[in-house]
Amino acid sequence: MPELPEAESIARALDRALKGRTIEKVEIFFPRLRTPLSPLLDAGLAGRRFVDCRRRARYAVAGLDDGRQLVLHFGMSGVVRVESKDVPRRKHEHVFIYLDDGMILRFEDPRRFGSVEVQNRGRDGWPESLAKIGVEPLSPAFSAKFLFEAAQGRKKPVKELLMDNAVVTGIGNIYAAETLFAAGVAPVRRSDEVTMEECVRIVRNAKRILREAIKCGGTTVSDFLNVDGSEGKFAQKLKIYAQKTCTKCGGKTLNPVLGGRTSWYCPNCQK
Ligand SMILES: [Zn+2]
Repeated sequence: MPELPEAESIARALDRALKGRTIEKVEIFFPRLRTPLSPLLDAGLAGRRFVDCRRRARYAVAGLDDGRQLVLHFGMSGVVRVESKDVPRRKHEHVFIYLDDGMILRFEDPRRFGSVEVQNRGRDGWPESLAKIGVEPLSPAFSAKFLFEAAQGRKKPVKELLMDNAVVTGIGNIYAAETLFAAGVAPVRRSDEVTMEECVRIVRNAKRILREAIKCGGTTVSDFLNVDGSEGKFAQKLKIYAQKTCTKCGGKTLNPVLGGRTSWYCPNCQK
């Protein structure tokens, strides 16, 4: 599943590929992904022009010149490409949006947990359906004080708190594991027992690691490919995620399942 850095890379690449392009027509090849695709056909997209593409949480949000937004979510296996219409359709490409420069915005999703929707812009400038999600981890709103306060009264493991989209959005399994390793905090710790000083380390490292991953174009552990087909490079820099031994002390890592996701940590380096 693409995490925040991958979604950021996709949104930036789509911004370059789509800005100023006018939609000629839309075709769908399957009735629904996570949500029905047929509304795309009735949305009057032909003739509309893309003005930009930005990321919110793990969504890529492409603005249209009439104020509406094309909202892409990648689910488990969604891949978006902007390619020539001369390239034949792949088996799991479910949506084609034809552009006026001979290219097609294609959405491929073998497992079909993704979505492609047209939505109205909410008061905060983002799609109405995204109004209730948590703060962006790279924004000033995600501070040590914010995390510490969010943790009070919560008994669940701190890794689950970091992955709670209603609190802070876009920190998935990989980056939560890497952040807690860098901060020296065990993912199994009760949220309300994490100290203010540890929150400072967690927040600082989360921002540093996400920024580094964005520079690398994301992680690409399984299905995810960037919009131009290139793979992210951050996977080579993983320090604890999917590691059998700790990259710092060489000790054996533990991998408990937290919130339904496998976690990796070093009981020696993370307390
Ligand atoms: Zn270690």
